[in-house]
Amino acid sequence: MRILSTLVLSFFSTFLFSQTNILTTNPLAKEIMLGNYNPADYAAGIVIDQPEDIKNIINNELNTDSLTSYLFKLSTFENRNTCSDTVSNTFGIGAARRWTNSMFEKFSGQNEGRLIPFYLQFDQNLNAQCSMNRFRNSCAILPGSDPESSGIIIIEAHMDSRCENVWDGNCEAHGMEDNGSGTALVLELARIMSQFTYKHSIVFMETIGEEQGLYGANAFAQYCLNEGIEVKGVLNNDVIGGIVCGETSSAPSCPGLNHIDSTQVRLFSSGGLNKQLSRFNKLQYQEELLDIVSVPMMLTIMSSEDRQGRGGDHIPFRQKGFPAMRFTCANEHGNANVSDPDYHDRQHTTGDKLGADTNGDGVVDSFFVDMNYLARNAVINGVSASFLAIGPDPVDFSGEKFADSLRITIDDPNDYNHYRIFTRTNMQDFDTIYTLVNSKEITIKRVTGGAVLFQVSVASVDENGIESCFSKEQFAFPTINSDGEIIEAPEEEIKRKSPIELFQNRPNPFDEATMINYLIHEKIDHSEAWMVVTDMNGREIQRLPAPMKVGLNEVLYTHGYNTVGTFIYSLVVDGKVIHSRQMVFAN
Ligand SMILES: [Zn+2]
Repeated sequence: MRILSTLVLSFFSTFLFSQTNILTTNPLAKEIMLGNYNPADYAAGIVIDQPEDIKNIINNELNTDSLTSYLFKLSTFENRNTCSDTVSNTFGIGAARRWTNSMFEKFSGQNEGRLIPFYLQFDQNLNAQCSMNRFRNSCAILPGSDPESSGIIIIEAHMDSRCENVWDGNCEAHGMEDNGSGTALVLELARIMSQFTYKHSIVFMETIGEEQGLYGANAFAQYCLNEGIEVKGVLNNDVIGGIVCGETSSAPSCPGLNHIDSTQVRLFSSGGLNKQLSRFNKLQYQEELLDIVSVPMMLTIMSSEDRQGRGGDHIPFRQKGFPAMRFTCANEHGNANVSDPDYHDRQHTTGDKLGADTNGDGVVDSFFVDMNYLARNAVINGVSASFLAIGPDPVDFSGEKFADSLRITIDDPNDYNHYRIFTRTNMQDFDTIYTLVNSKEITIKRVTGGAVLFQVSVASVDENGIESCFSKEQFAFPTINSDGEIIEAPEEEIKRKSPIELFQNRPNPFDEATMINYLIHEKIDHSEAWMVVTDMNGREIQRLPAPMKVGLNEVLYTHGYNTVGTFIYSLVVDGKVIHSRQMVFAN
């Protein structure tokens, strides 16, 4: 995970450091991604393709001993910096990527040779930084049973690590939480999922160059664009095994030093189909996994694409139009701001190790990466990716608005005749899910009292009860006033009244965190916009960047475990308070 300065660098570097000559070292991998193959060549002796079987096997076979062994091995390479040694077989990124590729090879051998390992190679001029110009992501593809089903699914993590200096290829940079955890997760899922038969092909990928500017992910996304490869969804895992909160952490962050959270995972994504992918993951967990797992997890759909001022491998995919999201643990050991002299946390330092030897016998006995938590997150990834890879084709819909209802008509050339309709207000989660069988039309009554905004999306459902990816959302009832009351006036009248409407935060009262939404009706020229939270005496508590895109905007306010009471939030544009509201923090 990267800090703001490198994020800025990555935008700047689009010109300086763009990737060229992008290719797969095994030409077969490209043909499989394009759907040019005979599925019989990769057919399993025993076909396991039923969702019930797949989810139970993933849940039962995912193994904390495997995860621990991968992390131990990864730590032996000492430094996995993009600029580290590529020749040695024991030290540096070259040894690490060859080892991950050899693991893909091994898993393939255990599964009738069906998993195809390859490297995604690209050129990028880093001669000035570290005298290197050719790089490789370590990947493997499991060919789908239906080459006509276009769209690959990608489970990925960055395997590169860093310490204080982002170009240092010699320091001790074990990078266990960031991001040995994600690297191990991808390997373990490749091991287990290679035995299954999916409709769509699945790519397992360990990227490089994330810490310097998301180079490896950008190269793969660019490759897909160049070659016309469709991507159905990208699940990025970055900092996914830690459960201990550091002294610092990027907002929205954990409550404070040494706070433990081993049951929550955060799903970060931009809006549109990216957020819908996050919601797909959460729904699969709630409906398919919750009943069979031993420790229930809470999946939190975050409002933002990433932590404040930070980024990850899902972003280049989203930028190139491929739905992508990121899993990150709830508690992070630091904000990675290693330039701060008071920074004492582990992220991006030599301290990001597997754990500590507390009794001095030379063996790590206290792990910074919680293997059980990591395993739970791996199961969530595996089941989501699996259901994406076996599910039906997505559908779209049109909506017709009436005074007190909305008529949804499903557009489905495949005639699945089984659909789900998802509605939500200004919360990230769905309010209501309707089921529609043997019909393509449903009328939804306008929700009064409580529900202020209303977004609608749809999915098809196959004979096994598996949903497709969710469609784009459409606004159903935007005619509400600034008090959140539904009114019947035409939209134009509201626009004239106020170009910006600030809504009541939800939930309210709240504990720890709440979502503040506001609707912008027309483009507003401005140089800065903030959501400012103050106490009742006007003392500023927090100031959060407020996006100003036309449509619904969201800001997540994390109060943490601070003073209980009433607070005021104000949308401030260019120093002028546009609108304020009160909210109540109740612990
Ligand atoms: Zn990272």
